[in-house]
Amino acid sequence: MAKQPGLLYFSKVESCGTATAVSVPCVFSALGRSHYSDTRAQSQEGLLDVLKHAGFEVIWRDNNSGCKGVCDRVTYEDVSQPVKGDPLCNDDECYDERLLRGLPELIRKAGKDLVIVLHQKGSHGPSYWKRYPGQFQDFGPVCETNDLAKCSRESIVAAYDNTILYTDFVISKAIGLLAQSSVQDGVDASLVYFSDHGESLGENNLYLHGAPYVISPSGQRHVPMMVWLSDGFRSRFRLDQNCLAARTGQEFSHDNIFHSTLGMLGISTAVYNPRLDLFNACSHGS
Ligand SMILES: [Zn+2]
Repeated sequence: MAKQPGLLYFSKVESCGTATAVSVPCVFSALGRSHYSDTRAQSQEGLLDVLKHAGFEVIWRDNNSGCKGVCDRVTYEDVSQPVKGDPLCNDDECYDERLLRGLPELIRKAGKDLVIVLHQKGSHGPSYWKRYPGQFQDFGPVCETNDLAKCSRESIVAAYDNTILYTDFVISKAIGLLAQSSVQDGVDASLVYFSDHGESLGENNLYLHGAPYVISPSGQRHVPMMVWLSDGFRSRFRLDQNCLAARTGQEFSHDNIFHSTLGMLGISTAVYNPRLDLFNACSHGS
């Protein structure tokens, strides 16, 4: 698929945890990896609360396993339950493209600025083959059982690669929708994508994720991150695209998400730390 114009890919990003239950609450807390704990995160307000206080309407759309408490005080939409006859679902679950359904209308009708979190099923194992519609099965034969021990490594990797192909399509479609909203409706739109953790695919005989952090292989901690900003968004928040492009090879982590989100939206609060805001060095006088 052709690259979306202006898409920035940050190549050296490290996750907070190696499992959804740790990384998701950690990303949306101000604690950062070294200070994060379940109880600490639950005892204080998180990123979505701060955004709400700042006047944004916040919506969490979920096609995964819930938001682990971080969306408790914002609008929650569960799109993960399969509906018979829906082309975006199989018998057991729904495909991530369902997260995008009705999005342009939602944005058009919004009375105020919106932050929408799309929690994808993505490439979560072990049932990789269930994560994408048939037309995305470019690689194969694929492993079609939860019991990965019954499959060859090649067939597991093939199924995983198909999930990546599908995620690529979903993100590209999301950017396409936002680009259209910005052109047709004058919406200053942006998209930030990142994974909650990586995945082992047989390296050193390890599969899946969730290894204890200190001994985890880098494959479970190294995550993709992408940023797309519409022209209107860039000029409204005075963000310099070339400056950001020059930072894409630098080392970042999930610790940067909280502060960068506040930074890119021009929100100043006591918990904002400009040193952890990857946009800070690239914004001009906002
Ligand atoms: Zn996860």
